[in-house]
Amino acid sequence: MIKRCYLTGEFVFYATARAKRPHSFHKPQEKSVPKQYCPFCVENVAMTPGVIYATENDEIRIIPNKYPFLDKDEIDFGVHDVLVDTKEHEERMSDFSDERMYKLMQVIKMRFAELESDKRIKYVQVFKNQGREAGASQSHSHWQITALNVVPLKMEHLIGVLRNYYYEHNRKCYFCSMEFGERVVEENDHFVSYLPADGKFAYGMDILPKRHISTLDDFTEEELKAFGVILRNSVKRLVTLLDGISYNVCLYSAPISGDNEEHFHFYAQIIPRIGHMAGFEFSTGCYINSVLPEEGAKALRQVEIP
Ligand SMILES: [Zn+2]
Ligand SMILES: [Zn+2]
Repeated sequence: MIKRCYLTGEFVFYATARAKRPHSFHKPQEKSVPKQYCPFCVENVAMTPGVIYATENDEIRIIPNKYPFLDKDEIDFGVHDVLVDTKEHEERMSDFSDERMYKLMQVIKMRFAELESDKRIKYVQVFKNQGREAGASQSHSHWQITALNVVPLKMEHLIGVLRNYYYEHNRKCYFCSMEFGERVVEENDHFVSYLPADGKFAYGMDILPKRHISTLDDFTEEELKAFGVILRNSVKRLVTLLDGISYNVCLYSAPISGDNEEHFHFYAQIIPRIGHMAGFEFSTGCYINSVLPEEGAKALRQVEIP
């Protein structure tokens, strides 16, 4: 079966004949680097270029990336932060408490707003790489926040698709109109976690606020709390089902300017790193997904979480 991803235009081949059982995806996260070499452990603070922000007890810290890909000069301005979300070297986000997740979301929202307030910044991307397969060079749990003076092509394209949908459907938002069917993994009062009908990643989930909000800035305290819980739970389901698999989390929030409030709907994406992009994907821009969304959702739903 071939589907075309509505948001990206990419073709996805659902190769269910190649369907694998979850255990055959086995690709656990690597062993942690020893604590004494970890720049994200509080006692090794001298290994990092300073602290931008820290909560009480240093539970969550924002530090400048030691190897930023962005300059701080006036022409190509950008910021590249690391947000260390736990003091514990081995602790993973999937085991954080509700309170920690709430605090984490508050800190992300705060830093997001701070970076956006710089006139030179056009777009802020928040993401998490967990595990080597997901691109994390440090095993200690952390996020990255990049503030760019350009709007990336992917975001520009997404905005165009959502804007067109909005005007072609009598001013209805694409995400607000979405029906989830059998693809829901979990929901609470404010959010739903589900597998997109045209998703290109096996077991890949999106998390959507039920209220139409276009940016992280508009999250209420209640929504921050609820988002933290559903994000933690969704990741917990994934790493339980796929035995500690590496994953990425990406938060998509409307760019600062451009009047995107009506058609852009904030969402988060969880990407399990089951297979690598290889020649086929690079050359064609097409993807192969061996798990149907309904089947993936069912398996994730059935995982018992504490
Ligand atoms: Zn550490
Ligand atoms: Zn919406």
